[in-house]
Amino acid sequence: MPELGEKIKALALELTKMPSIVGTSGEAAIAAWLYERLGRLDYFRRYPERLVLLPVRGDRLGRQNVLAVIRGEKCSAPRHLLCLGHIDTVGTDDYGELRDYATDPATLKEKLPAVKFAAETLAELTSPDWLVGRGILDMKTGVAALVAMVEEFSRRPGELTGNLVFLGVPDEEGNSAGMLSAVQDLAALLGEEGGEFIGAIDTDYTTGRYPGDPRRYVYVGTTGKLLPCFYLYGEETHVGEAFNGLDANLLASEVLYQMDLSTDLCDIADGEVALPPVSLSQRDLKAAYSVQTANAVNLYFNYPTHASQPDEVLAKCKAKAVQAFANVIKRLNEEYEKYCALSAIPFRRLPWEVNVLTYEELYRNVRQEVGDELDRVIEELAAKLRAENADEREFSLAIVQEVHNRYADKNSKIIVYFAPPYYPHIYVKDDDAKGRVLLGAVTKAVGDVKARYDYDIVIKKFYPYISDLSYCSIANEQSIARLTGSMPAWGRRYTLPVGAIQAIGMPVVNIGPYGRDAHKLSERVSTRYSFDAMPLILKKTIENLLLDGSGNNNKEEGP
Ligand SMILES: [Zn+2]
Repeated sequence: MPELGEKIKALALELTKMPSIVGTSGEAAIAAWLYERLGRLDYFRRYPERLVLLPVRGDRLGRQNVLAVIRGEKCSAPRHLLCLGHIDTVGTDDYGELRDYATDPATLKEKLPAVKFAAETLAELTSPDWLVGRGILDMKTGVAALVAMVEEFSRRPGELTGNLVFLGVPDEEGNSAGMLSAVQDLAALLGEEGGEFIGAIDTDYTTGRYPGDPRRYVYVGTTGKLLPCFYLYGEETHVGEAFNGLDANLLASEVLYQMDLSTDLCDIADGEVALPPVSLSQRDLKAAYSVQTANAVNLYFNYPTHASQPDEVLAKCKAKAVQAFANVIKRLNEEYEKYCALSAIPFRRLPWEVNVLTYEELYRNVRQEVGDELDRVIEELAAKLRAENADEREFSLAIVQEVHNRYADKNSKIIVYFAPPYYPHIYVKDDDAKGRVLLGAVTKAVGDVKARYDYDIVIKKFYPYISDLSYCSIANEQSIARLTGSMPAWGRRYTLPVGAIQAIGMPVVNIGPYGRDAHKLSERVSTRYSFDAMPLILKKTIENLLLDGSGNNNKEEGP
C-alpha cells in the first residue's frame, strides 16, 4: 500500500473509533477534533483565520461545520474547489449485542464471525483486506482521504491556481442541516471574495451495483429525489349502498398501481436510468371503524430524478392521477352494469367525473372563493402544527385538508402535491464550461490511475444514493416556483436556501472508497482500491483542477 494510502487507512481507523452518530454530541466532538487536527498544520498555524468552526444555523444540538481554506497563490481570478464530506454516521442498533464494539474495528473484526453471515460475506469480514466498523465506509474513510488532501495541498499553496475549500458537515444522515447551513457560508465567501465554485468533490462510499459486480465507480453528478403525494377524496356511502359512493381506497389503489415501480416514470439521462417511484405510505384517514366507506386517503412516493425538474414531475404525477381516476370510473360503471343486470334493475351511468388538481390549483380556487381569510387560516394551522412539532408529511397533509375543507366543490377529487424533502439531482454535461472542465479533470485522473492499477474503473453520471451533494446546485426560479407553489409546507415548516445554492451552483463528482453494506452491521471497506487507486484519483483530480497547465502534470511520483 502506498504511503498516502497507509496514512488514510490509519486516519480512517482513528475517525471510526470516534462515534459520531447523527443527532448525538459525537457530531460536535468529531468536528472539534478535526478542527484541532487541521489546526496543527503549519499552514493553519500561519493563517489561523482560514480554519473555522461554523455553527449550524438554528441547530438545537449546537453542531458545527468545519471549514478550511487553502488559498491558491497562483490565482489570476478567484476560483474555488469544494472538497466535501459528512462527519456523522447512522446509529449502531443494527449491531445488536455487538453494539459496544461497533466503533472498535479491531475488536469488532474478532467478534463478527459469531454472527451468521452468508459464506461470501463472512470470507470478506475475516479477510485482512477488509476493515469493519460503523461509518468506516460511510464515510470516515472518505473524510480521512480529504484530510490527507488538505495536508498535502497545504504544503503547496504556491502551486495552486485556485482555493481548496474543505468542508466537513454533520447531519447528512439526518436532514442535511450541516450542508444547508454551510451553503450559506459558501455563498457569503463568494460574496466577499468574488469568483466562482468550479466544482465539488465528495468522497462518500461506492459499492457494486449488483452481486459480483467487478467494477469500481466514479460518479460525475448525483441523483435527486422528490416526494409527490396524492390526497384522494371520495364520496362516502353506507356499505349497504356500495355503488352510491366513490371509495377513496379504490382510487388510492389505482393511483398506487399506476405509479408504483412504473418504468415509464423512470428518469433517464445519458442512458442512465433512475429507479422508478415507489410508495412510502398509503393511509386512509378514517379515525375509527364504521360501516361508512373511507372518504379520504393520503398516499406518497419516493421519486428519484436524473433530469426532470419538480414542475415536470408534478405534471407526470398529475397525468397518472387523471388516468387512475378514469380507470376507476370505467371499472365502477362496468361492475355496476353487471350488478344491475344480475339484479334485474335498470342501469344508469354513475355520476363520477375525473377531477384532479395540483395543490397550487386547489389553493387558487379556494382563495377566489374565500379571499384573504384562507391565508389567515393556513398560517394559524401552521403555527399550531409547528408548536406540536408535527412531522413534515403530516404537516403538509393537514394544510391540504384544511384548504380543501373550505372548497365549495365537494365532488370526488385527487389533489397532487409535494411534501419535504427535496433533493435536487445534478446532471453534469459537456455543454457548459464548468461541467466540461470537471468531466475532463476526472476522466484524465481515472485514465492515469487505470494505467497504473488493474481496476475496471467506470465513470458514471449519477451518484445513486441521496446525499448532501444535491445541495451544490438547484433548478431555475421557474421550476422552483412550481415546486414551492405545490408544497404546502414550504416556508412554513420546511425551506431550502435556494438563493445561496443558486449562487454557489457547481457541478459535482463523487470519488469514494469501495466497500459493502453501508448502514448494516457488516459495513466494511476494501483496503484494495480504497487505499491505493481511489486516493490517487482524488489527488490527480484536484491537481488537474488546481495546478497550472493541468494537462501537463505528468509527475509520476507515488501517491
Ligand atoms: Zn454517506
